[in-house]
Amino acid sequence: MMIKFIYKKNEDIKCWKRWNKFIKKNKTVWGIIPLNKKYISVEKITFHVEVENIFEKYSKVFKMKPPIIEGYVVTTPFSMINDDKSFSRIGKIYLSIHNISFKVIIHEIFHIYFEKYTKRNIPNYETAKEYFTVILNDIFSYNISTGYPKHEEVRKKIFKVWKKTHSIDECIKILIS
Ligand SMILES: [Zn+2]
Repeated sequence: MMIKFIYKKNEDIKCWKRWNKFIKKNKTVWGIIPLNKKYISVEKITFHVEVENIFEKYSKVFKMKPPIIEGYVVTTPFSMINDDKSFSRIGKIYLSIHNISFKVIIHEIFHIYFEKYTKRNIPNYETAKEYFTVILNDIFSYNISTGYPKHEEVRKKIFKVWKKTHSIDECIKILIS
C-alpha cells in the first residue's frame, strides 16, 4: 500500500487557511513559535511512500480498517491533517515541505487513525491528538515521538496506561477523569 504525495495549489491554499486560523487562535504550536513566512514556491512534486507496515500496526491498535489517505505536499511551516470529515474513511495529510520525513508521515497517519477512531468526540481533541502520539514510542520500539514541550506530563501518564493495557480506550479515560 502506497500513499501518493503530490503538490496541488488549491490544497496548499486550503492548508494555509487552516494554518492561519490555528496560529491566530493559539499563537504558538503548543509552545513552539513557528516561522510564519511563505519561503518556498512549488510547481510540481510527486512521490510515493510505502505504508503497508504502518497500516498493519495501526489497524491492530485501533482495531479498524486502514483509512483512505490522500497526500499533499504543502508550503506551510508545519505538517497537518485535514480532519474535517471524521465520519468518512478518507483522510488528508498535508506534509510540510519544510520537514519531509518518514517520522512526520508516521505521525500524521497516526493522527488520521485517531481522528477516525474517536470521531473527535473526546475532551480537548486538538491537543489530545498530540498527547497520544507518545504511543508511537512503544509501537515502533524506539523514540520516534518527542511531543511538544507543554505536553510532557500528560504524555507520560498516557504512556504508562498504554504499557499496562495496550488499550486506546483506557488511555482516553485519563482525559476524562
Ligand atoms: Zn501532530
